[in-house]
Amino acid sequence: MQQDNPDITFITASAPVATSSHGGRAKCLQRLVRLDLPVPKTVALSFDEVHRIAAGDMPDMAALIAQLQSDSLICVRPSSEDPDWGGPGAILNIGMNDARHAELSKSLGGEAANALYARFIQSYSIHVARLDPDMFDDMDMAAEDICEQALAAYEDEAEEPFPQDPAKQLGGVLRSMARAWEGTSARLLRQAKGAPADAGLGLVVQEMVLGLGHGECGSGVLQLVNTTTGMPQTTGRYLSQSQGRDALETGAASLYIEKDPRGPSLEEEAPVAFEALKVHAALMRERLREEMQIEFTIENGAVHILDGVRVQRSARAAVRIAVQLAKDGIIPREEALMRIEPRALNELLHRQIDPEAERDVIATGIAASPGAATGKIVFSAAEAQASAARGENCVLVRRETNPEDIRGMHAANAVLTERGGITSHAAVIGRGLGLPCVVGASSLRFQMRKKGLIAPDGRVFREGDVITIDGSEGQILAGQPPMLEAALDDAFQALMDWADDARDIDVRANADTPADAKTARNFRAKGIGLCRTEHMFFDADRLTVMREMIFADASDDRRSALEQLLPMQRADFIELFRIMEGQPVCIRLFDPPLHEFLPTDRAGLRDLAEALSLPLSDVTRRVEALGEYNPMLGMRGVRLGITIPEIYDMQARAIFEATIEASRDGDPVVPEIMIPLVSAKREVELVKTRVDAVAAAVRTETGVDFTYRLGVMVETPRAALRAEEIAPHCHFFSFGTNDLTQMTYGLSRDDAGRFMSAYVQQGVYPEDPFHTLDAEGVGELLKLGAERGRRAQPDLTLSVCGEHGGSPESIAFCRRIGLDYVSCSPFRVPVARLAAAQLAIQDKIG
Ligand code: PEP
Ligand code: MG
Repeated sequence: MQQDNPDITFITASAPVATSSHGGRAKCLQRLVRLDLPVPKTVALSFDEVHRIAAGDMPDMAALIAQLQSDSLICVRPSSEDPDWGGPGAILNIGMNDARHAELSKSLGGEAANALYARFIQSYSIHVARLDPDMFDDMDMAAEDICEQALAAYEDEAEEPFPQDPAKQLGGVLRSMARAWEGTSARLLRQAKGAPADAGLGLVVQEMVLGLGHGECGSGVLQLVNTTTGMPQTTGRYLSQSQGRDALETGAASLYIEKDPRGPSLEEEAPVAFEALKVHAALMRERLREEMQIEFTIENGAVHILDGVRVQRSARAAVRIAVQLAKDGIIPREEALMRIEPRALNELLHRQIDPEAERDVIATGIAASPGAATGKIVFSAAEAQASAARGENCVLVRRETNPEDIRGMHAANAVLTERGGITSHAAVIGRGLGLPCVVGASSLRFQMRKKGLIAPDGRVFREGDVITIDGSEGQILAGQPPMLEAALDDAFQALMDWADDARDIDVRANADTPADAKTARNFRAKGIGLCRTEHMFFDADRLTVMREMIFADASDDRRSALEQLLPMQRADFIELFRIMEGQPVCIRLFDPPLHEFLPTDRAGLRDLAEALSLPLSDVTRRVEALGEYNPMLGMRGVRLGITIPEIYDMQARAIFEATIEASRDGDPVVPEIMIPLVSAKREVELVKTRVDAVAAAVRTETGVDFTYRLGVMVETPRAALRAEEIAPHCHFFSFGTNDLTQMTYGLSRDDAGRFMSAYVQQGVYPEDPFHTLDAEGVGELLKLGAERGRRAQPDLTLSVCGEHGGSPESIAFCRRIGLDYVSCSPFRVPVARLAAAQLAIQDKIG
């Protein structure tokens, strides 16, 4: 066999063929040859050779064809390094000419020979000679003289006869495929899929087995798993010669693969070939360490394998396939873990729109909380609650949400807002509740009074109209597309167990309610890293007492209002502790500005005046007085704790009493108390003194001892910088990267959505820093804070509890600087566990 050109290689078991020089398809075919599978003769052209061909430097075609040592027809297929990078379509039936047509007419019959020749003339005309595809529009491919018609049309358009020499035909095909790869649009397309600018294309030139003859003949594809679920199932499609080849190409009727009551199957028509294919596919799975789809032909009963490609798969199928390969000992568990993109788990954790479904997209916004849900439009939290009470699904539409909307969000199936970014209120709460959410959908016109949404194309959607929110893609859709349910099955659980064995940084959940805590437990979070207690005060019965407390003039009045809140808070914490069964629970003391609890509209103010028996004017004045120009930097967090200490006193007492109660009948609880928005050491000293005093009082009153841990939320730049003097008073620091990002950039987390996409598009920021931790700036503060904190207090537990805690890139950073855990929304816990495992495995591999 002639092998002078090292870039044109006949594929044998030992030939020098590599994915990096010849592409994935060529390498896969060599692997199939090594498995002794019946693969037709194939020659691989390297990236360098194809590059030369594109430049017009053609190899010796006759020598190339001679390597195949056969007189059958030939096909050429692309072989790029990564199959996802695409490439020109395969060209089949090269070598068809008048002489071959005459021969095949005799052996296979006129119809089969006509079909082969006419199709080749057509694809050669379009892809090689670059003639107008319309020229074949009016031709009847079943006509007896179709070949004459096609040849005449070619000659007319190309002004030369159709080439008869197979070497010339092959040369034309190779040149056109090589040039198609080097074209600008093809390059841009593959670069968008991650290919480097100079990615090469290999080509495989293969002898064709036609699947035409007198015994059982046909062609098809077969795989051993279901593409959507990953469950074992022999599936694919097969077209026997008797059904006609055109049907296969148009995707029309084909035989079932396995026995099927609906019609004839490959299993019944060709049981021997069917069994052989199953054995081949199983061998490929084992030896190529992957679920493969076989492309095959059956010719006179004999099976030929033309190609093998990785089975297409949904995220849930990918998990099951990887887990099963590891369980069968084909790949190690670490590899199974590495094969799953952590964010792809979102597809399993939430309902999603069926990928096959048609989408009527009305508008897009920021994908703030994944999953999809359908419901009738409602424009207020109260309507959402009413809708839930009627048992109807609804989508809550707001300009932006605030704490008053929480009940409505609980009742809604999805949330849509006009304003806000990835850490806006709607986004954070949506993720916590696992509620699909799109924010910042400013291309829609929100008519809150008229209760309408106007789409950019002019369509109007009114209250009660059905829309669907796709929080994974950031899309708002009209109507109700078909959905796929969440899939937390045994394969998912197995993968997660393996991830926990591999990872070396813990993952906790941010959970405010019992429902959140249950989700956190289900997703096996190692405790609660952040319980935002303020969310507990928005229940209707608590809100009034809360408002009384806010309006109290004297400390005693305040205390008496807080005494009413105490049992409710205590009950909240008992429930959380019980659900978490002894796992750590980090409770953040009250954080938001008080005016968030006050009404903003006239009706609300009137209700409040009534409840407090005060004149409306008094109430209005007091509410106005509590307003701030810049509340996020105003009287909130520890500043409230210092100026109105009774609030934190009540919360500390509720925590300690709940600790005693929950430890009585369950696992011992060691609560963690976290002080928000600290910027000075003295703040911690003052709060610590009072919390210690409450603890001592509760111990004395109850005669029961308990321990607790006190720590600081590091979310102002100054707290990070002064970490060394703050740490001696603390058991832990938790970096609140939402506020820390806001304050480091001087960027409002509630308003950044307006210009963030322009900033990212123009490369001002590489990414939204509220989404992916800014390792250079905010990260430097984390690193400084961690180092300085641990210098003063070596046992300090360190963590991140901002939204970044759930993003794989940010987890990598947290691991690098030695944090003990990350805490994120419950629904992001599995993603974080897998990402953490992959980082540890990568480090081990080196
Ligand atoms: C933070 O600021 O990072 C944080 C976790 O707290 P919140 O989002 O409640 O301000
Ligand atoms: Mg904060």
